Amino acid sequence: MDFNKQPPAASASGTLVESPANSTQRIAVLGSTGSIGKSTLSVLAQHRQSYEVFALSANSDAGALEQQCREFKPRYAVLGNAQASQDLQHRLRADGINTELLHGPEGLEFVAGHSDVDTVMAAIVGAAGLASTLRAARGGKKILLANKESLVVAGALLVREVQRSGARLLPIDSEHNAIFQCLQGSTDDLGVASLAERGVRKLLLTGSGGPFRTTALEKLPRVTPEQACAHPNWSMGRKISVDSATMMNKGLEFIEACWLFNCGAADIEILVHPQSVVHSMVEYIDGSVLAQLGVPDMRTPIAHALAWPQRISSSVASIDWRTLGALTFEAPDTERFPALSLSQEVAAAPGSAAAVVNAANEIAVAAFLERRLKFTDIVPIAADVLALMGAVEPESLSHIQAIDDEARRNALQAVARA
Ligand code: NAD
Ligand code: MG
Repeated sequence: MDFNKQPPAASASGTLVESPANSTQRIAVLGSTGSIGKSTLSVLAQHRQSYEVFALSANSDAGALEQQCREFKPRYAVLGNAQASQDLQHRLRADGINTELLHGPEGLEFVAGHSDVDTVMAAIVGAAGLASTLRAARGGKKILLANKESLVVAGALLVREVQRSGARLLPIDSEHNAIFQCLQGSTDDLGVASLAERGVRKLLLTGSGGPFRTTALEKLPRVTPEQACAHPNWSMGRKISVDSATMMNKGLEFIEACWLFNCGAADIEILVHPQSVVHSMVEYIDGSVLAQLGVPDMRTPIAHALAWPQRISSSVASIDWRTLGALTFEAPDTERFPALSLSQEVAAAPGSAAAVVNAANEIAVAAFLERRLKFTDIVPIAADVLALMGAVEPESLSHIQAIDDEARRNALQAVARA
């Protein structure tokens, strides 16, 4: 049985079905206690006959994982810490729930590559999600990729593993999911077909501009984590919320798009679109522009990727066209958002540049969230660590991990100096 292959009769625009596949898909939801994880479980709960939750995972929120285990009764659950994992095992056993508790990166890789798993939702935040995503790729799984950092940090390696094993990569990031829908292609094309082969002139990557799009520049050094995490349109985890406020998120997405759609920096235009209704667009060589629209709710790309190439309901509301008002687009302000030019530099540099910037950014964002760093120091620290380390073409996963470690050490020192 192969859930990953596209049925020949299905159209790319999709078919509405009650049951998305001819039998149950078994899913490992990695990062299930996060924003994407919860949205995924909300969609899965609406389609219990079609999807079986095989595994769940959390880093430290044992309480949320426990509640999810009680509701979904997965075969496995993974926690970051061994003791917390044992404690949860005892609590669940006491109530007759047979979920087996695992812990740490080995536990994540075990469930990501398990032979009974069809689909892996990669929704861990940061480079911490790389090893389990790669394990799912090597295992030939259908990968619902929310963890954009995997592609940013190890794009060449991940794309190669996907091609070698016959895994399927489906983008969850709303922009990339929108572009995938507008390309009307197959997952076989992802990372392989060129834009020219698809008759595409360019990709238009939209971004809201975040909470500080119009804030006076002189106020930016004093903005708080609470203000940075109050995104005007999307409700997300704290790291990606800060990335949206610096627009480093768009920078990471720019690199993610280069890998997913096998294109270069010159093929992608970033547009600020404050309403977050147009999730991205594809312009073809004949002048046609296809856009994917919807209310900003991640359950749409999640449901799309889960059921692809069919369609399932997600309970996402309709756009209210009569009250929507204007949809506007503008060029990004590169002085306000230096992350955008940094990401262009990274896209043109050898592969380790992206791993360095990603790691330094993770450290700087964490320091900002802990009030140890000014908001306006986040992106300069990522740029400084890149300038210090330079860039090479990484040879292996262990090489990437060593570069990531070194970038984190350098970023910690830069934070201490700032
Ligand atoms: P989040 O912070 O809400 O959740 C992160 C999840 O990962 C949690 O379950 C947490 O327990 C787990 N986790 C954190 N660190 C871990 C570690 N070291 N080891 C193992 N597990 C760990 O994050 P989120 O907003 O759900 O984002 C998840 C991913 O999806 C990110 O890569 C983000 O860029 C991407 N994404 C999110 C959104 C969104 O709307 N939230 C949209 C597009 C893409
Ligand atoms: Mg996005």
